[in-house]
Amino acid sequence: MEKNCIYLDNNATTKVDPQVVEAMLPYLTDFYGNPSSMHTFGGQLAKGVKTAREQLAALLGADESEIVYTSCGTEGDNAAIRAALLAQPEKRHIITTQVEHPAVLNVCKQLETQGYNVTYLSVNNQGQLDLNELEASLTGNTALVTIMYANNETGTVFPIEQIGLRVKEHGALFHVDAVQAVGKIPMNMKNSTVDMLTLSGHKLHAPKGIGALYVRRGVRFRPLLLGGHQERGRRAGTENVPGIIGLGKAAELELLHLEEATKRERRLRDRLEQTLLATIPDCVVNGDPTQRLPNTTNIGFKYIEGEAILLLLNKFGICASSGSACTSGSLEPSHVLRAMGLPYTTLHGSIRFSLSRYTTEAEIDKVIEVMPGIVERLRALSPFKNDDAGWLQGQEQALAHR
Ligand SMILES: *Cc1c(COP(=O)(O)O)cnc(C)c1O
Repeated sequence: MEKNCIYLDNNATTKVDPQVVEAMLPYLTDFYGNPSSMHTFGGQLAKGVKTAREQLAALLGADESEIVYTSCGTEGDNAAIRAALLAQPEKRHIITTQVEHPAVLNVCKQLETQGYNVTYLSVNNQGQLDLNELEASLTGNTALVTIMYANNETGTVFPIEQIGLRVKEHGALFHVDAVQAVGKIPMNMKNSTVDMLTLSGHKLHAPKGIGALYVRRGVRFRPLLLGGHQERGRRAGTENVPGIIGLGKAAELELLHLEEATKRERRLRDRLEQTLLATIPDCVVNGDPTQRLPNTTNIGFKYIEGEAILLLLNKFGICASSGSACTSGSLEPSHVLRAMGLPYTTLHGSIRFSLSRYTTEAEIDKVIEVMPGIVERLRALSPFKNDDAGWLQGQEQALAHR
């Protein structure tokens, strides 16, 4: 990657904080023992792991015994869903949403082939849920409700505790994919209705290959990986000690910076968004304008292709995204924006800018400077710039039938 790039793709992954690297280094060199070993050399690691667990628990407002380390957010989502179903074998119904990350959606799709019944809750054109639809879907047969805290593509934040209250009335377990929310929204699991919560290190300035699942004390848990007794029998496999140490340090830094960093990111994001909307015709913000992550803006530039915008942004050293990293490259429009019922013209020209505490004023200025020219240039080449109503309608219908 270019060293001096303007990195506005922080919902895909983040820069590892130099203090995190520093904390990890000794565990990649001198302290290479196995924390489960009986000898003191291994024991020294157990102490570092304990501190890291306390740091992560503090960020979540949880008890350290409620943290289970995983390899990534995807593993956390998979483990939570499996655990909930294994713990209640008599229940065969799952509720999720149409806008989840593939790490939840694809598990649910597979479970449908294994005799489970899955309800995919719809969203409105701002990407928000209808709690009445949730209420109507909950039954005594519902084993699990798995809903994301904040959407990775639009930043839309769901009312997690309001959802949880309804879930609890029906005796189902409640899992939350909070990969995008941890470090951006304050968490306090002690006063929460959430039973299990997934997070991932590389989305909060820790390295890739480490994540965690919060499991509320008292929730019956069945491991996804079987083997040794690590993580109190909840996740077998020798611990990723450097990763755990790094995630602990990253959690400590997130807690330290959360208030001031999110305030700053929101201000920069709003300035970017408002200026682009004011200087470029025919563009709209996708997502909930108020219930939204402070670092994310998803803007639809009508009549042009998101991929073309990204290529030109890339020429200026600006990294952004169209849809999620997992679906881009396929040229399929984002399942999230489709679920919101956006028109064809907006669906294809949507770009996500996601900021971090490293984003500077000058970087935002640069994007504000180059975007109008990029959009103008692409629109001049666009086959549907004149909005041929019949042609567009055909495209929308084709899309609806897929
Ligand atoms: C990134 C992401 C994941 C997957 O996390 P990995 O650590 O990359 O496996 C899951 N859910 C959401 C909402 C994400 O943004």
